[in-house]
Amino acid sequence: MPADPNPAPRIFCIGRNYAEHIRELDDTHATQCIVFMKPHTSLVPAGQPVAIPCDRGAVHHELELVLEIGAGGYRIPAADALEHIGAITLGIDLTLRDLQGQLKQAGSPWELCKSFDHSAPIGERVPYRQDMDLGDIDLQLRVNGELRQSGNTRDMLYPPTHLVEILSQTWRLLPGDLIFTGTPRGVGPLSPGDVMDAESPQIGHYQWPIIELSP
Ligand code: ZN
Repeated sequence: MPADPNPAPRIFCIGRNYAEHIRELDDTHATQCIVFMKPHTSLVPAGQPVAIPCDRGAVHHELELVLEIGAGGYRIPAADALEHIGAITLGIDLTLRDLQGQLKQAGSPWELCKSFDHSAPIGERVPYRQDMDLGDIDLQLRVNGELRQSGNTRDMLYPPTHLVEILSQTWRLLPGDLIFTGTPRGVGPLSPGDVMDAESPQIGHYQWPIIELSP
């Protein structure tokens, strides 16, 4: 398994952060964003193959802006949050969608559908600069050249600075912590042989081939 040379201390993920994605999953009864975590064995650097299970129902892509914490902190007010962001990139929150539906219905935790190996392909980190506007980042995902997801971070319900505030109420954020910030609409299934292209004019372009997870 490809290992990230600098495994993040924690990988936090936010669910339900774009209204149109909430509607496409028919989750409109939900009022707050969701927080879950993935282990560092979920990470797959850009260019490396992503091995997905083929016997557990649909595996969906969720394209997301990812924040990397620079300076850590506890109970960081949103107004100070930009000082704690060290880098940004794009990532894919891979989700076993059929299993997620069953877990939601049972009121069970999401680890089985969200936190499997290779469930977090991630691009190279781009140092955050004060002149970057995290509230206006375009992000697009193509699968085999076909546009699947196209969004802008201005449509987030909880912007990046607010997410830092929310997470740091519970955890002392540490340098290297990653935050997957939720997905815009357009999620859909992947199959072995597919190629994912994640692109943002403000960040970069990253590609992952999909292969079948074998024993
Ligand atoms: Zn997600």
